[in-house]
This record gives sequence, C-alpha cells and structure tokens, in this order.
Amino acid sequence: MPVLTTEVKTEKSVAQHSSETQQHASNTATKVQLQSVTKTYTNGCHALLNANLEVKKGEFLFITGPSGSGKSTLLKLLYGQELPTQGEVIVDECNVGALRGDRLSLLRRRIGIVFQDYKLITQRTVAENVTFVLQAQGYTRKEIQRRLEPTLKLVGLLNKADCFPDQLSGGEQQRVSIARAIVSTPPLLLADEPTGNLDPDNSWQVIQILQKLNSFGATVIVTTHDEQLVRRCNQPVAQVRNGQLFRK
Ligand code: ADP
Repeated sequence: MPVLTTEVKTEKSVAQHSSETQQHASNTATKVQLQSVTKTYTNGCHALLNANLEVKKGEFLFITGPSGSGKSTLLKLLYGQELPTQGEVIVDECNVGALRGDRLSLLRRRIGIVFQDYKLITQRTVAENVTFVLQAQGYTRKEIQRRLEPTLKLVGLLNKADCFPDQLSGGEQQRVSIARAIVSTPPLLLADEPTGNLDPDNSWQVIQILQKLNSFGATVIVTTHDEQLVRRCNQPVAQVRNGQLFRK
C-alpha cells in the first residue's frame, strides 16, 4: 500500500542514517506493556488477573482463549475504553489508564481498531465509511483522496468504493472496516475477533491483510478463538486462561 510503504520507507531511510545502537533500540522498542494488570468489572467479574504482557514494536501477536476469557477486555484496556482496576497499561510509553480528554484522543488516533461486527455506517458508501474519520480529524480533501485509493486497493475493494455496506458480503464488510482502521496509517492495529463472523476463506483473506500490514511495519494484535487459523499462520501467540495471560 503506497501510503504505508512510503512511511515505512521513510522510517527505514532515517534508520540507515542513524547509529547501529539507535537502530537496535528502535527495533526492540516496546510498543505495548501490561504490568500486573487486574480488571474487575463493577459486577465483581474478574476479566483479567495479574496479567503481564510485552509486545515489541513491529510484532504480530495472536491473543487466543475461549469466549469470556478476557480477550476483548485486554484490547479495551489498550485503547482506553476500560480502565485497569490494578496495574499499568502502557502504550507508546504512555500510561493509558492515566490519560484523559485530548491526550487519550491523541493516543487513540495512533491506534487502528477492527471489530468482529464491522461497525460500518449503513447509510454511507464504502469510500465514505473509510474516510469519515479522516474528515473528522481535519485532513484536507487532497490528503483524503491520496490515502483512499491505495487503502481500498490493499484490501481488494477498489471496485466497491461506491457501494453501500448492505451490498457487500461479510468478508468485504470486514475488509472495509480494516480499510477504515488503517487509512490514517496507525502504528498499532488491534483486531478483536476480526474473523468471528467469517467463513474460512474470508477469515484467511482478512488475516493475510493483517499480516501484510505488519510486514509494512505496523504492530498488530489480533484476538481469536480460532485455533486452526492461529496454527496456520505460525505467528507468536499469547493465551488467556481464566483471566491470566500466558505467552507461548
Ligand atoms: P472474551 O473477549 O474473551 O470473550 P471478555 O473480555 O469480553 O472476553 O469478557 C471477559 C469476562 O468479563 C466475561 O466473564 C464477561 O462476562 C465479563 N465482562 C465483559 N465486559 C463486561 C462488563 N462491561 N461488565 C461486566 N462484566 C463484563
């Protein structure tokens, strides 16, 4: 995808001019960290118990575990939709639980999110669904146009730009939601059961797109209960069991 590729290339050329030590530091920088995180909902449900996790910049990580094990809660903590009851959630060196208002909004702009149920606006076209966030963030019309085409191309939907969501298959709708999540080139992409409503072929297509984005430099965290898909991908895995996280 040209937009992402250009940015990653720029990063690479900057790195080429920096010292070896700096390159090493950037390659191993921590993107996401959970430090002894417990999340107890107000009804007393312990979704996470003393969970620890470290995800490096540029990593791809699957979070697996049965339904109700705490996977969505983990992602919600990363983008600040839920606050930890105990412990710290760090993203890009920011303590997410301590961010409020503009500072939280700014962090969220650097995180792309994909949901199981797509969350598309039914009265808007594919192109409008993908670009409305950019409009809300004050991108110029020219910049929006520059980003739209390569993004739709990356997810294989260039020919569907003027369709409405109900004219698309489930797999296509999920690819629109991925396009929306990545059009602002966020360095961190979170996908919560992105294949949960899809058949195996469409699931595989979605995972391949996520892996491609990772190859362009994005850090990608994907929750799923589809063990078969995880095995097929051969990517790092952390498992949630009874609120506890185990990195395989
Ligand atoms: P998963 O994504 O693995 O299915 P969740 O993170 O959604 O798991 O849920 C983990 C546990 O927390 C479950 O027992 C669920 O019922 C509970 N839970 C999730 N959200 C809430 C909430 N807003 N209030 C109370 N309990 C919740």
